[in-house]
Amino acid sequence: MRKIYITAASLILLNVISPAVQAQKKPAESATDKKVDALIAKMTLEEKVGQMTEVTSDVVSKTNAPDHELDADKLKEAIMKYHVGSILNVTGHAYSREHWYDVISTIQKAADQDRLKIPVIYGIDAIHGVTYTVGSTLFPQEIAVAATFNRDIAHKAGEITAYETRASYIPWNYSPVLDLGKSALWPRIYETFGEDPYLVKTMGAAIIKGYQGNDVGDKYHVAACMKHYLGYSFPLSGKDRTPAWIPDRYMREYFLPSFAEAVKAGAKTLMINSGEINGVPVHASKYLLTDVLRGELHFDGIAVTDWRDIQYLHDRHHVAATQKDAVMIAVNAGVDMSMVPYDYTFFTYLVELVKEGKVPMTRINEAVHRILKVKYELGLFERPVGNPTDYPKFGSEEYRLASVQAANEAITLLKNNNNVLPLKKDMKVLVTGPTANTMRSLDGGWSYTWQGDESDKFAANKNTILEAIQQKIGKNNVSYEAGAGFDSLQNIDEAVNAAKKADVIVLCLGELSYTENVGNIEDLNLPPAQIQLAQALAKTGKPVILVLAEGRPRIVTDAEKLSAATLMAYLPGNEGGDAIASVLFGDVNPSGKLPITYPRFPNALNNYYRKNLENGNPDDKHGYNPLYEFGTGLSYTTFSYNNLHVSKPELKDNETLTITVDVKNTGQIEGKESVLLYTSQQYASIAPDTKRLRAYDKISLKPGETKTVSFKITPKDLAFVNDISKTVTEAGEFKIMVGDQTQSFNYVSASTVPSRTGKL
Ligand code: BGC
Repeated sequence: MRKIYITAASLILLNVISPAVQAQKKPAESATDKKVDALIAKMTLEEKVGQMTEVTSDVVSKTNAPDHELDADKLKEAIMKYHVGSILNVTGHAYSREHWYDVISTIQKAADQDRLKIPVIYGIDAIHGVTYTVGSTLFPQEIAVAATFNRDIAHKAGEITAYETRASYIPWNYSPVLDLGKSALWPRIYETFGEDPYLVKTMGAAIIKGYQGNDVGDKYHVAACMKHYLGYSFPLSGKDRTPAWIPDRYMREYFLPSFAEAVKAGAKTLMINSGEINGVPVHASKYLLTDVLRGELHFDGIAVTDWRDIQYLHDRHHVAATQKDAVMIAVNAGVDMSMVPYDYTFFTYLVELVKEGKVPMTRINEAVHRILKVKYELGLFERPVGNPTDYPKFGSEEYRLASVQAANEAITLLKNNNNVLPLKKDMKVLVTGPTANTMRSLDGGWSYTWQGDESDKFAANKNTILEAIQQKIGKNNVSYEAGAGFDSLQNIDEAVNAAKKADVIVLCLGELSYTENVGNIEDLNLPPAQIQLAQALAKTGKPVILVLAEGRPRIVTDAEKLSAATLMAYLPGNEGGDAIASVLFGDVNPSGKLPITYPRFPNALNNYYRKNLENGNPDDKHGYNPLYEFGTGLSYTTFSYNNLHVSKPELKDNETLTITVDVKNTGQIEGKESVLLYTSQQYASIAPDTKRLRAYDKISLKPGETKTVSFKITPKDLAFVNDISKTVTEAGEFKIMVGDQTQSFNYVSASTVPSRTGKL
């Protein structure tokens, strides 16, 4: 087998595609650069290092003020003594717009007292809407936005979030997460656009364009912050911020493209991965922070650390013997701004290090240049605080409807035995399960608070799944028993009795809100209490409609096999309850598709683009045995795919292939369909992935209607990173797959390049 493979590989012609990451040129000095240079020329070392310092709002706030109050003395110290350039978000609880106005204007007034009057840049995690402002529009989390397979939704969510963030007087958003949601174990998978590199990069670019608009400095747009560069999402243990082992080739193949695309989309800032990769903490990696990020990607915005990560180089990663060494290592590696976040040690050490010649002044000037440039671009010098009356659309019905649409298009119908769904509105329904009546399971983490634990208070006017169903079909038709908590049985007998009297059971399982290390788990299986509830209810013989509201695909196999229908709701946001009810009762025809592989077993967590090993032994799934595959998603109508057509049988260098396919709505009602195009390479110099998503589009079809969907593919789209870390497209046969249609074509190339394997 191995011999055959090598022979085939050695016959393949190889063509180097200059990587997208190498394609860009450094921009020439702009008028803003000149302004920045002039300002830098006036700055003292301390003023420069201050710009590189970011502290959390607690540092400038009173300690025992329940409703939050800035502390004038602490603020004065931060600005006048340390010249801090940036302050970051609040984690405790959400503020009103009025309070935000007071906070930001007080900070900017303080900054105006300092010698050079440089405005502070305030940053916040507005990761699915401006999460820390009361009354804002909360969207589905990124994983659910990805399930829509609709870039316009990502773009719109970005645009509205930017507007409402500026309406909260904040110009900098620590979003989007561009990490690859590759591991079901990792607690932050819901913050990602899923497991596929192409989906992540295209959704990421769309949301960045929404955040930043055409002019990031107007009063409706904010600077995006792509995070967490690089390889954060794939720790070996599955636990947050634990070491990863990711070879350079895989880093470039799977994890880098979303960041490269974001740079092309113009992202102004970037946050660094808190973890270590192959033993090197990313905050200490000159290779990743300078050689790759600046040298290859040509990113010229701000690179900010994540929370306390320079200090962790000393006390967590042990690559710096002292805190001062940690500062030296990180700044020399390429860090521009330190999210310190609680003290001024970074400032003190960095001033000393420059004076001692251990950090060059050129590095400081470079970092400060980037920071000041973004401040100019954001318009902070002219407009450090926005005007309260400029934002009439904040929390408006128009914006709410955009969130409704996002949730409607995200909900993913995974199973619908005998078309049990949609339900009739005159049915008697039992709603049960731990996620049925809490906003926490719809909004997830980063909602009003860091852990999202106050969503029931702040989103009290929004509908839980139970409330939405009651509203949809009338309270008289709905009974409710929790049956179980998240990990303990509650009144299971009452739930079973109520089920006997109902026509159908809507069983809502899943997770409570969490993020980061707080969301680490020991077991991917959904807790036994929830499975037992499902089993007890199924014994009544009444159809069970399983609704999953969860941030990561918990293993539910033993419950799911008992359901008549299954809906994956992810974390659909404030309008998620209504969206679920609309899908259940047929007011919305579901159109979401899984942006992740839904695992069946804990020991089979492979992604869909696994290596193609099944052919070797059909009895052994080689770690890929999903409950539902990436891209699964049913509709209440049916679609047929016909006439897959590839414009030519041979694709040459610099040519484009046009691929068309006819998609027909063969059912009775209007529906939306995401059309996914995959390719697979038959043989390559390194083992090719089974298949890869290369393009997608979402269309809407009336009953009986046919649309021709067209895609363009170039050799570059078929490239992979070979064993010497070169991005190449190798000649040979490719398959194209769209729906149930398949076609083949050959890529022929005139040029060749050796790979290490190819030389063998
Ligand atoms: C998270 C980041 C976040 C930052 C600021 C960190 O702990 O990893 O995603 O942006 O905190 O809140």
